[in-house]
Amino acid sequence: MQRPQNALVSIAPSGRGRGRGPNRRIAVFEPRAAAAPKGCGPKDGPAYTARRRNPHHGLFGRWIAAFLGWLPLLCCAQTVELPAQASVPGGVRMIQVPGAPGQPPLVTYQDHRVLVLRDAGKWIAVVGLPLSLAPGEQQITVTPGAGANAGPGPGIRSSATAAGSTMSIPFTVGAKAYTEQRLRVAPGKVDLSAADAGRAASERARILAAIATYSSPNPPTLRLMQPVPGRRSSSFGLRRVFNGEPRNPHTGMDIAAPAGTPILTAAAGTVVDTGDYFFNGNTVIVDHGGGLLTMYCHLSHIGVTIGQHLAAGEELGKVGMTGRVTGPHLHYGVILNQVFVDPALFLAPPGRPPRRR
Ligand SMILES: [Zn+2]
Repeated sequence: MQRPQNALVSIAPSGRGRGRGPNRRIAVFEPRAAAAPKGCGPKDGPAYTARRRNPHHGLFGRWIAAFLGWLPLLCCAQTVELPAQASVPGGVRMIQVPGAPGQPPLVTYQDHRVLVLRDAGKWIAVVGLPLSLAPGEQQITVTPGAGANAGPGPGIRSSATAAGSTMSIPFTVGAKAYTEQRLRVAPGKVDLSAADAGRAASERARILAAIATYSSPNPPTLRLMQPVPGRRSSSFGLRRVFNGEPRNPHTGMDIAAPAGTPILTAAAGTVVDTGDYFFNGNTVIVDHGGGLLTMYCHLSHIGVTIGQHLAAGEELGKVGMTGRVTGPHLHYGVILNQVFVDPALFLAPPGRPPRRR
């Protein structure tokens, strides 16, 4: 599996270059090994957070850094654990956007509302990049101050336009070579019957409607728990080609676990959909706010109902092998601004078991 990119990121408005001149500011998004400050959010494992480069060196500088590190314990300063950045198809891109304190900007990408967080005194757009994206230049649309009253879904563009002073901020998406499997199978073996194809199409529409949910408030953290212990596959983005016909890429992470293993909600949220689907089997979709959702598939048992609020780490069902699968495992999906992104970017590095409350 390709490791999450902990890239040096320009936070200049252009999203390119590293800044020049007296106002040069550089942010480094990197994994933080220390536990989250107590009292400021969930406590399950290490965080990915934005750190500013410390200009101080030597013992005094380290002492200052240590003190600043503990400061949130004292005053609960508003910092947010961010995902690892990967500016590639299926990845997540963090972009600083302009806006006054207390007046969140409205940010859209491909006409979908984008999660915007206040982190260390700056507005940061956290943009999910579709797997289908071609490498090259992309752009987000930003309307300073329009985020507080904007609607979540259709019509978002008109509400942004009405607010005026909308600007575009470009950013670059690099290439990522996901694994491709070319398979030859007996003709007809992978084709669905008309009835199954119709069922799958209607279920797809329902699932797309569920993942279009955008609610407030924002999640307090973008660090997610691994819902079950077990080996993580690196199959996010894997594309299978049957007899020369490409299928949709794999949009989640498969975690091997015995049937019956309790599945824990990755973060606090509200159940927005449950169902028994043709491909995904028994499925639960949880809304965490700000367009961040998680999806759990192939369950043997669904233990929650639509509308139910779940605390982080609360059990929502059990691992199974329902739907089109060959063995028990959890298919774990993460959705941001209506696109499936790599769940690994939101998790602690492999090998660390999730902490449970
Ligand atoms: Zn899967």
